[in-house]
Amino acid sequence: MSVRLSDAPWLVNASVRAVFEAIAVEGDAARVVGGAVRNALLGEPVGDIDIATTAEPVTVAARARAAGLKAIPTGIDHGTITVVSDGIPYEVTTLREDVETFGRHAVVRFSRDWAADAARRDFTMNALYVDPDGAIHDPTGVGHADCLARRVRFIGDPGARIAEDYLRILRFFRFHAHYGSGAIDEAGLSAVIAARDGLRKLSAERIGHEMLKILPAPHAVETVEAMAETGIIEIVAGGVMRLEDFAHLDHLTEFAPEARDAVLRLAALTCFVEEDVERLSDRLRLSNAQQKRMADALAASHGFSAVLDDLAVREKLYRLGHHTAIDAALLAWCRDEAGPEDQGWRRLVITLRNADMPAFPVAGRDLLALGMKPGPQVGEQLRAIEAHWISSGFTLSRTELLDGIGVEPGSPRGSGAGG
Ligand code: ATP
Ligand code: MG
Repeated sequence: MSVRLSDAPWLVNASVRAVFEAIAVEGDAARVVGGAVRNALLGEPVGDIDIATTAEPVTVAARARAAGLKAIPTGIDHGTITVVSDGIPYEVTTLREDVETFGRHAVVRFSRDWAADAARRDFTMNALYVDPDGAIHDPTGVGHADCLARRVRFIGDPGARIAEDYLRILRFFRFHAHYGSGAIDEAGLSAVIAARDGLRKLSAERIGHEMLKILPAPHAVETVEAMAETGIIEIVAGGVMRLEDFAHLDHLTEFAPEARDAVLRLAALTCFVEEDVERLSDRLRLSNAQQKRMADALAASHGFSAVLDDLAVREKLYRLGHHTAIDAALLAWCRDEAGPEDQGWRRLVITLRNADMPAFPVAGRDLLALGMKPGPQVGEQLRAIEAHWISSGFTLSRTELLDGIGVEPGSPRGSGAGG
């Protein structure tokens, strides 16, 4: 009567079988653990496959290599070997118990005890194991039921578990945002509040990584609200949170899937002026590309409104590019009163999505060919021609544009453009 996942493609394909066959020999066992099992039970897409085994890391590596698989000692100290089979990497981790923990760094002992391995994991739904034949093992006894009920609960005493590793505060919110249902677990929430100052011990990178995973989640709005009510978001991000705008952006997602993006969501939630972008990028150690994206979207957002005419919208598209223009429009929309049904905003976003990016048909060398001398005036003339072209609704051809300018050979003077 036990539930099985015996037909799950990720459990029966040749790639994962090769790993099991290599490792689970001579009295050792191997089971898939964590996210893959949880997601399979919830009907969510299964990503990386993590494997737990009784075999010690050196043995895992040796057996994998003997079977012709690649073995990379990713985190051999805490027991993880990455085994690559058919090009797919599997993190194979030896069962362990945390003997001592200091915030993030645990002294570990390898073990053969599945219950001890489960006990050191964070949430009951993350401590489920599945055998190569599909049988599910639930050492905490409540993980399976919690998973199906979408209940994100710490294993053991929440306060003690958080004190071992403050990252679990953010993981608590992250897993609730993705897989939770109903109210956030009370005991977890109280423990998180009591321990929140521990967040200050975490690196900016880790915090940023978790935040960016929370924001696009299905229950991000209520989760971020809970993080605000408990003072967590303040510690993480500082400054003023724009919860309503964030909720609004979330509501736009059905019409505009682009609004699901984590970086755009972060901008909506936390960035109102340029300084906010810098502060956030620093506090969450965002990449230069992420920072630039927020800054560009924010700067351009001020130019968008639901009443822009078509030509103005296409000019935005031309000047900003698809990506920034859509970011900026959604950011402006979420700051606006108009809801997801608003026809003006909808039309604007649809235009940005579908309009071809016009290509300016004139280049500097065209002006030089007409006899203009190289120099700054070439750029000026080009910009004037471009403005003329834009105001024609991007319709004037290269010949029409060049015919109109009347450059005299050897003279920087031009006329006709822009009129
Ligand atoms: P995702 O889909 O985000 O990868 P996941 O459950 O696989 O979800 P990982 O961060 O890949 O999450 O971790 C794999 C497993 O390792 C988790 O399911 C959990 O059992 C355990 N784990 C990871 N990080 C922690 C932590 N900080 N404290 C306790 N257990 C953890
Ligand atoms: Mg994982």
